[in-house]
Amino acid sequence: MPLITPWKTAYGSDDAVESVLVRMVSGGVEGWGESCPLGSPTYSPEYAAGVFNVVRDFMGPRILGRAIESGRQLQDRLGCFKGNPFARAALDVAWWDLHARREGQPLWRLIGGVSPSIDVGTALGVAQSVDKLIDNVRQAVDAGFKRVKLKYCPGWETSIVESVKQAFPKLVVHVDCNCAYTLDDLPMFERLDQLGLAMIEQPLGYGDLVDHAELQRRITTPICLDESIASPRDAQQAIKLGSCRWINIKPARVGGLTEALKIHDICQQAGVPCWVGSMLESGVGTSVLVALGTLPNMKYPGDILPGDKLYERDLASPAIRLSDPARITAPAIPGIGCAPDPQQLTSMTTERIVLEA
Ligand code: MG
Repeated sequence: MPLITPWKTAYGSDDAVESVLVRMVSGGVEGWGESCPLGSPTYSPEYAAGVFNVVRDFMGPRILGRAIESGRQLQDRLGCFKGNPFARAALDVAWWDLHARREGQPLWRLIGGVSPSIDVGTALGVAQSVDKLIDNVRQAVDAGFKRVKLKYCPGWETSIVESVKQAFPKLVVHVDCNCAYTLDDLPMFERLDQLGLAMIEQPLGYGDLVDHAELQRRITTPICLDESIASPRDAQQAIKLGSCRWINIKPARVGGLTEALKIHDICQQAGVPCWVGSMLESGVGTSVLVALGTLPNMKYPGDILPGDKLYERDLASPAIRLSDPARITAPAIPGIGCAPDPQQLTSMTTERIVLEA
């Protein structure tokens, strides 16, 4: 799916997004799942072609033709496979949509959402210049977004935050480092700590919990973990170690909606607030993020970007739109509330496989 603007972060620049969609059918009802690991293993060890192969060769055949009554049962069937949360998620999320449609219930209500309408924030990638970034922030503020996240990496650091804070002193701002730093960068984090950020997202390495705990002891700005949390167990250990004060939940990164719900509950019990993150999914995957955002321990506006802001053409039909400048409402119809538009899907598909029981 070609992006309107290339997405620049600490790990690279993406002009297009590669995603895996699963259509799961049972008893004449279909459900859709999407897992969007990006085209290369830069955000995490997984990538779209790899996820496709793992679903086709290993995980799909494990659940084909089985009666599966819960997301947990599906996860247990896949329990013999190590890691690969994005592949697991493609099937898990499709199961949840299928289940909600069979139950005749909107997904957000089925998973325990408290209100269908949620706040969303905006995320701004690395810009060509600080002036361009200030323009982008101004557009976001004018559009009504109540918080702005700035991608942050070597060469695009403290001075950009100072400029944004100077221009918009009251705006809620946080930075996302996408694993770009180590504890050797402590002096930079101590300077950043003075700037009143809402949080610092994933400052240190992918998968790290121990150094994050050390950094969190040295700064007062809350750390939010993203890439380091790939399972409920990671969330439990991060809380135990004091590695963060926020957790960003992305269903695809943690193995699906079943695991996302579990992490939500673990965090809620521990008094650690959460919020929803995005992998630049099409509208199909985004609709699951919206449902997740309706849960009670989601305490910060989500990174939920409607497809028309990201893509020249989005996949979802009906399209997901902001209901208010910075709010989005989960649909009242059964399931995730949308499906891929068949024509768009055909035009963008590079590979497809059918598994039949
Ligand atoms: Mg992040």
